[in-house]
Amino acid sequence: MQHLIGENWHSLESQKIVELFESDVTDGLGSLSIKHREEFFGKNALKEKKQDSYLKKFFIQFHNALIYILLGASAVTAFLHEWVDSGVIFGVVIINVIIGFMQEVKAQEAIESLKQMMHTEAVVIRDSKKITIDSVDLVPGDIVMLESGSKVPADMRLIEIRDLKVDESMLTGESLAVFKNISTHSENSILGDRKNMTYSGTFVTYGRAKGIVVATSNHTELGKIAHLIENTTAMQTPLTKKIAEFSKILLYVILALAAFTFIVGVLRDKSAVETFMASVALAVGAIPEGLPAAVTITLAIGVSRMASKNAIIRKLAAVETLGSVTTICSDKTGTLTQNKMTVTNIFCGNESYEVTGNGYEPKGHILKNGEQLASCNNNLNEVLKAGYLCNESYLVRKDGHYDISGDPTEGALIVSSIKCGWDEHRLNKSYPRVDILPFESDRQFMATINKYVKNNQNIIYIKGSIEVILEICDFEFLNGESKVIDKKSIMKKVEEYASDGLRVLAIAEKLTDKEKIEESELENEFIFLGLQAMMDPPRPEAIKAVQESKGAGINIIMITGDHALTAFSIAKMMYIVDNDAKFEESVLVGNDLMKISDDELIKKVATVKVFARVEPEQKLRIVDALQARGEIVAMTGDGVNDAPALKQADIGIAMGYGGTEVAKEASDMILSDDNFRSIAHAVKEGRIVFDNLIKFITWTLPTNLGEGLVIMVAIVLGLTLPILPLQILWINMSTAIFLGLMLVFESGEGYIMKRAPRNPNTPILTKEIIHQMLVVGVYMLVASYGMFNYALSNGHSIEYARTIAVNIFVFIELFYLFNCKELQRSVFRTNVFSNKFLLLGVVLMTLSQIAFTHTDFMNDIFKSESLDLSTWIEIIVISFSVMFVVEIKRYIDSVIDKRSSS
Ligand code: ADP
Ligand code: MG
Repeated sequence: MQHLIGENWHSLESQKIVELFESDVTDGLGSLSIKHREEFFGKNALKEKKQDSYLKKFFIQFHNALIYILLGASAVTAFLHEWVDSGVIFGVVIINVIIGFMQEVKAQEAIESLKQMMHTEAVVIRDSKKITIDSVDLVPGDIVMLESGSKVPADMRLIEIRDLKVDESMLTGESLAVFKNISTHSENSILGDRKNMTYSGTFVTYGRAKGIVVATSNHTELGKIAHLIENTTAMQTPLTKKIAEFSKILLYVILALAAFTFIVGVLRDKSAVETFMASVALAVGAIPEGLPAAVTITLAIGVSRMASKNAIIRKLAAVETLGSVTTICSDKTGTLTQNKMTVTNIFCGNESYEVTGNGYEPKGHILKNGEQLASCNNNLNEVLKAGYLCNESYLVRKDGHYDISGDPTEGALIVSSIKCGWDEHRLNKSYPRVDILPFESDRQFMATINKYVKNNQNIIYIKGSIEVILEICDFEFLNGESKVIDKKSIMKKVEEYASDGLRVLAIAEKLTDKEKIEESELENEFIFLGLQAMMDPPRPEAIKAVQESKGAGINIIMITGDHALTAFSIAKMMYIVDNDAKFEESVLVGNDLMKISDDELIKKVATVKVFARVEPEQKLRIVDALQARGEIVAMTGDGVNDAPALKQADIGIAMGYGGTEVAKEASDMILSDDNFRSIAHAVKEGRIVFDNLIKFITWTLPTNLGEGLVIMVAIVLGLTLPILPLQILWINMSTAIFLGLMLVFESGEGYIMKRAPRNPNTPILTKEIIHQMLVVGVYMLVASYGMFNYALSNGHSIEYARTIAVNIFVFIELFYLFNCKELQRSVFRTNVFSNKFLLLGVVLMTLSQIAFTHTDFMNDIFKSESLDLSTWIEIIVISFSVMFVVEIKRYIDSVIDKRSSS
């Protein structure tokens, strides 16, 4: 099969290529040849560049300032024959390296699984059947169908096209989409000029095509340009960057302080060894080693929680931004509503009818004034037949129940025609399709030409929005004859239906002698056949989510191509607009949007809740206007034309189920169930993630401050160290693991969706938090130092006193953890039992402190000593008091607040 690997496919006739590949334009490849080709060509996936080996990943972790310091300290202590210290410091290095390594591996796995989720699908013809397969299973010779929004799954020579436009910017740098054709081109034409080819990884932005795969995997143009291989998303966000910078500065400050301490110590005639150890202790104690790990872990947990609730994060920064979203712009159809359409009303021949039955099961009747018709009259027959023929969906029966394949709007028309007695076989046979112009949102209609076999007459059927169709109708069909159209009575009916929340489709026909649909044919002289109005019920869970989001201070805006009255009515059902809201204030239609200036729009978006009859291109202006008002905007989209708005929005959300590849590529987040509820969930998770990070920071920094202060004071005052470097390492490592990390599992307070969104400009460390950290840090200093000296003055050994100091630090952290569990509410009102992990951590921490204090083994390593029961009681009482200290501080804050505000 070597001969099938080539370059100049653009210079050959497509028929020739099909023969060469032993394929067939209408039937595709057969299963046997597919198997052979799979064996020869392998999977259609880019062979990725090699990952760093695990060994390399492991050693890279050593390249880190903190690790260098610790390694240095370990070497110096070894040189001074302080073997235990040296060993333990080295142990800390190893633990840090292992944690970093695990994080990296986990992040890698997360990215891999995201890649998996984001593969493309391809519609191919195989064994004469049109099927959808994973793009990695494509082989050369496969006949592939493309339509607007699809990502080209392999390099292809085009065979048939209809208005095909492709965005090839990733290969050619040409930012405008190019029109394709199917003629042959000269052999030496460059990539951008090979108009009869499409290349893997590019996007169809308009039209449709059928083509034959000529190259897969690394033989594609994309495969050749290795650097185009998607770079892995870095596990980095504005927040992690900020924290990394903060940590770096902190590191230098602390190193400077440590050096200063060393000098002061030496000047005070202390032994160099001892002051060196003290400086190491200072550095180790004051640097928040756990912080970067906690940030990554919190974000990673956020991502996986969101994924379990159908929101797949594509860009890590989105996790953070989600928490501060102030406006969600959502599509109506399918996101807020179920996208399960059922025709409920028909208007034709100047009469109205109702249709019974639910869903896609073709069981139901046509009623007039509540009475079932014996059979469908002429008018009904025509409008329902046209609805069937001008259609790309079909009914499928799966395990006893009916479903549709294709667009639900069209599926509803299939079902209604069957309810009237039209038979699929008969229609397809007596009215075979000659040409089709598929539905596109910005055109708002679809047309077909069908040949009536009996008299060999071609008919154009057209269906679409009332505005577009009425414009081109000059006649209406009345009992077998065409009369001059009465648009007024039709519009009255449309408004009646739309006000009930129904989606209205107008249907018309026209005789023609053409075989292809031409623009000029679609301008006038159509005969109006009737209206079919369908219900698309709101998703009940979306209604709840809308209410919750509004309660959380988030503005909800509906965007739709549907009729203004339909949209307004659905918006009312979903409480997006209030019941007494005025139509003029709450609704803006696309045509008016086009006319007003940007400044006017910026004013308008303050009250508008429904944008109706908008084209996808207009979404970008809406996002811009909202952002000009300072809103943080989440915007949904599914089509090609939604991509600019998705990129511009702070959170671009693509539909995972109904969305195009283009939209997904432009998005920050993908909804795997297309459901509005999942957006609300993601926002909530985003808020939780941010809260948990702040909780962790508020909890961890006071300890670092306290430890730093203790050592500094000791050295500057020339006193003995109340805690040894080794003991500081013990405190930091054990509390970070047993206590701090458990905050990551906090699942958010009940009121997290009852408060306003976080303003992204507020600093992470607010004044209140900084004050609280100072208070707690100083309390730690006073408590440990005080108890340390008290023990010494009572004649206890220095080891005994130090053991007290260590325990005070640990237990203050333990109790203070509960202050940090909720930042807005008093610790005495929080549910302290809500987080099982945290309780487990408290138990483990306590057990390990008992071991630290009372086992010979630990006593040997850490130079600790067993404590008396009475000492234990003192430690617990003093540590427990931190909760009150924080509460008193909060109380004083609130008093000051009140005074300054009154
Ligand atoms: P939405 O944003 O609600 O999905 P669309 O852009 O899909 O709106 O549809 C806009 C209008 O186009 C609808 O109100 C309907 O009148 C018409 N329409 C929708 N789907 C089709 C279709 N498959 N064929 C013809 N007309 C359609
Ligand atoms: Mg739609």
